[in-house]
Amino acid sequence: MANAEIGVIGGSGFYSFLDDVTEVQVNTPYGAPSDSLFLGEVAGRRVAFLPRHGRGHHLPPHRINYRANLWALRSVGVRQVLGPCAVGGLRPEYGPGTLLVPDQFVDRTKSRQQTYFDGVPLSDGTVPNVVHVSLADPYCPAGRAVALKAARGQGWDAVDGGTLVVVEGPRFSTRAESLWHRAQGWSVVGMTGHPEAALARELELCYTSLTLVTDLDAGAESGEGVSHEEVLQVFAANVERLRGVLFDAVAALPATEERDCLCTRALGGMDPGFVLP
Ligand SMILES: [Zn+2]
Repeated sequence: MANAEIGVIGGSGFYSFLDDVTEVQVNTPYGAPSDSLFLGEVAGRRVAFLPRHGRGHHLPPHRINYRANLWALRSVGVRQVLGPCAVGGLRPEYGPGTLLVPDQFVDRTKSRQQTYFDGVPLSDGTVPNVVHVSLADPYCPAGRAVALKAARGQGWDAVDGGTLVVVEGPRFSTRAESLWHRAQGWSVVGMTGHPEAALARELELCYTSLTLVTDLDAGAESGEGVSHEEVLQVFAANVERLRGVLFDAVAALPATEERDCLCTRALGGMDPGFVLP
């Protein structure tokens, strides 16, 4: 029986160097996740890696099956999730190579399935209840502290806190949109942070976002705007460093049974209408 305790949702660059990785296909009541889960061990902890965009990066942000992804991770035992992602910086001081661990997000997506609690019957006949969870503080406080400490341990002076605005994509923002986001005081802009964190909370999973700035967004730079190639180059240049941070964070996360954060009580005893996987 496949099992893991910590999940990492990110590219194949994070697990491809592990010695012993087991590929496991998982199906869920919401369909298939982005790809197989890749199970391996980091610092004695069992980790499930999931390529968010599928191997080969064929899924754009708006077509990712976020519900299946979080469900699949929980079903193999994962209770804490690290979610690294590439973002654009909305302020000149958050240039390429900045690592920011947000404490808030703003949802500007349009078309995504963003809850398990929609009252729509599952294929096995169970009917989810309508439940409202608090998302006032959307990220795990324990996971954030661990991520920041891991980054500093790697000599990376990560930014502690900030607001990730999540746009629908796959296009980048117009200059007007970007200037508006910046004027709101938001910090970075990405395309995958929502509904990942919200769904994790609904399943009482700890979720920590680590955002790597790959470019200055259109409103914060004076050139020709963001290019996809530029994003890939900066990500590739930092992937090794980010892997170091993730692995140190994995090692330092609390044991599953020692979690004592708000995430573990998200449902507050409310009946979701189905059994959590
Ligand atoms: Zn937590």
